[in-house]
Amino acid sequence: MKYWIETWGCQMNQLDSARLSGNLAGAGMEPAAALEEASLFLLNTCSVREKAEAKVFARLGELKAWKHRRPGRRIALCGCIAQQYGEALLKRAPLLDFVFGPGEVDRIARHIALGVAVATHLPDAVDYDPAVVDRSDEVISMVTIMEGCSQGCSFCIVPRVRGRARSRPAGSIEREVRLLLDDGRDDILLLGQVVNAYRDPVSGLGLTGLLERLAGLPGVRNLAFVTSHPALFDPRLPAVMRDHPVLSRYFHMPIQSGSDRILRAMRRGHSREQYLEAAGRLGDTVPGLALSSDFIVGYPGETEADFEETLDLIRRVRFASLYAFAYSPRPGTSAARIADDVPAVEKNRRLNELLRMHDAIQREENGRLAGAVMDAHVVAPGREPGAWVARTRCNRVVHFAAADPAAVRPGAWVRLKITEGLPHSLRADPV
Ligand code: SF4
Repeated sequence: MKYWIETWGCQMNQLDSARLSGNLAGAGMEPAAALEEASLFLLNTCSVREKAEAKVFARLGELKAWKHRRPGRRIALCGCIAQQYGEALLKRAPLLDFVFGPGEVDRIARHIALGVAVATHLPDAVDYDPAVVDRSDEVISMVTIMEGCSQGCSFCIVPRVRGRARSRPAGSIEREVRLLLDDGRDDILLLGQVVNAYRDPVSGLGLTGLLERLAGLPGVRNLAFVTSHPALFDPRLPAVMRDHPVLSRYFHMPIQSGSDRILRAMRRGHSREQYLEAAGRLGDTVPGLALSSDFIVGYPGETEADFEETLDLIRRVRFASLYAFAYSPRPGTSAARIADDVPAVEKNRRLNELLRMHDAIQREENGRLAGAVMDAHVVAPGREPGAWVARTRCNRVVHFAAADPAAVRPGAWVRLKITEGLPHSLRADPV
C-alpha cells in the first residue's frame, strides 16, 4: 500500500510526519511519488492557527473526489486537531477513516492494520526509535528532546493537545545524535515546545548541560534548539553558547507582548524587564547572535499604550526576525472565555504597523552584515538556474549563485561573503 502525508504547522509536526512515514515504511508500506498513486492519505494537522478546524474540513472536501476515484482509499487525520476533537471528527466528517493524536505516531501502522479508528493517548514518557524516522527529505536533522508544555499561557492550546512537559532521556537523545553524525548529518535541530523546560528524567540534567554534552560530540557542525521560554531562561546559557561555537547563533524566545499588563493577563510568568535582561545578556555575550520572537497583537484588553510598549520593546531588542499574529481565540483555552474586545480592523492596523516597523529594522540589521563571511548550509535550489538557497548558522536565508554548480547540492556547506541585506534574507557570493 502507498501512502501520502500532508503536513501543516510547526517543526514538531514535520518531525512527527517523518516518524509517521518511518512507521508506515517499517510495516511494508511505500511513500507515493504523487497523491494519485496513494491509497492512504494522512493529514498531519496543527491547531495553533486561526480557523484550523475549518481548514481541515475544507481540505477534506477537496479530497472527496480523490477518495471516491478508487475503492479502498482511506484518510487519516493526525496531529493536534485530531487530539483536540477526537472521535467527534469521525461523526462530523464521514469521509475520515481514522483519527490519531500526536502521541500515536509510532503505532499508526498497527492501528491501521487492526482497524483502530480513533487513538488519542498521550504517553507519559517521550522517546522513540531513531531507526523509524524517515529522513529522506531532511537537510537539517530534527531531534525531539521534550514534548508538551506545563506553562499554561491563557491563549495557547498546546498543553491540551500535546500534554504536560515531558523530557526524553539524555542518553537516548545522544544515541540519536551520534547515529545522525555517523550518517554524515552534522546540522542538528533539537525540538521541544519549551526546550528550556528540559530535565533528563534519569539524571535531572537541564538544557544547558545537555547542550554542552551534545556540542562536544565529534562531527557536529551546527546544533540549534527551539523554542525557549523567557520565564525559564538559564543565566548560564549565554556563556555556554559563547564557549561552544557549534551551538547555533540563532535563539528563538517568544515574548508575545511588550506590556507587563498584557503579559500578566496572558499568564506568561515573566515580565518585560526579565525578557530585556535575558535578551541583553545573550546579545552582549554571544557574538553574531540572531534573536527571534513571537508576538500576538490585539489580545483582549490590549490598549494603544500596551501596543506602544510592544513596539518599544521591538525597537530596543532589534530582533533579527519575528513572527506576529493578530489574536484570535482558540476553543478550549482560558482566553477564549474573555471578550475578544479589540476590533478586527484595529488588530490588523496594529499588526501591519508592527510588521512595517520590524521590516525596516530587519533591513538595517541585514544590511549591516554586508561584507561578512559566513558558513551556510544549502537547503534547496533557487528559482533561477544555478541559484541556491542556504541557511546561515544564525538561521538567515541567503541566496547565492554557485561558482561551481557540481560542488553544490542540498546538504552541502558553503562559505559565503554577504553582498547585500534584503528585508527578509541576504544575498551572497561564494568565497
Ligand atoms: S509556553 Fe508556549 S507552548 Fe506553552 S502554553 Fe505558553 S505559548 Fe503555549
